[in-house]
Amino acid sequence: MAKATPRQETSPKLGLEAMKALILDVPDFPKKGIMFKDITPLLADPQGFNAVIDALILPFKQKGIEIVAGVESRGFLLAPAMAARLGAGIVPLRKKGKLPRKVHSASYDLEYGTDSIEAHTDAFPKGSKILLVDDVLATGGTAAAAISLIEALGGKLIGSTFLIELCFLNGRKKLAGQTIHSVLTY
Ligand code: AMP
Repeated sequence: MAKATPRQETSPKLGLEAMKALILDVPDFPKKGIMFKDITPLLADPQGFNAVIDALILPFKQKGIEIVAGVESRGFLLAPAMAARLGAGIVPLRKKGKLPRKVHSASYDLEYGTDSIEAHTDAFPKGSKILLVDDVLATGGTAAAAISLIEALGGKLIGSTFLIELCFLNGRKKLAGQTIHSVLTY
């Protein structure tokens, strides 16, 4: 693991291949046939984590983003640091049944199974500029649901950003017409 040093704008950045080297492929998790991308070693690396956050926000720095919406669970690891750098707030898009007040839901198919995500009905002030984040863009079902949720609740989606895009699953096709940024592609 790289030695922790206080972050400065001039601190050395990890390149894309070095970032990829810190992601572990876990075969057959959580189901047979799935090659799970374990990003925890990359996030645990001080230079790695800083490079991840910088790369995720890069195209959105001058876009006036007001809220970073993170998808449960691993989007929650990324959204707060991104928002702090952008001067934005965060909204968690949560799995079913976790939020205490009135919610709007959107359901979706996963690469492995089905699920739904929810946000409080007042989570996004009308017309507020939103950046969506998740760790992986796979089939695009989760992101499509997240986008429909944000838009149904009055947010103005500026773009979606992913640490990893699994291009062979064609997730982008489901998100046609949207601004999509991915840091690492496979
Ligand atoms: P999808 O809806 O198919 O685009 O799947 C995206 C969601 O599932 C993200 O929230 C990811 O965290 C998770 N996911 C899907 N495939 C993988 C994978 N191979 N490795 C890690 N996470 C994955």
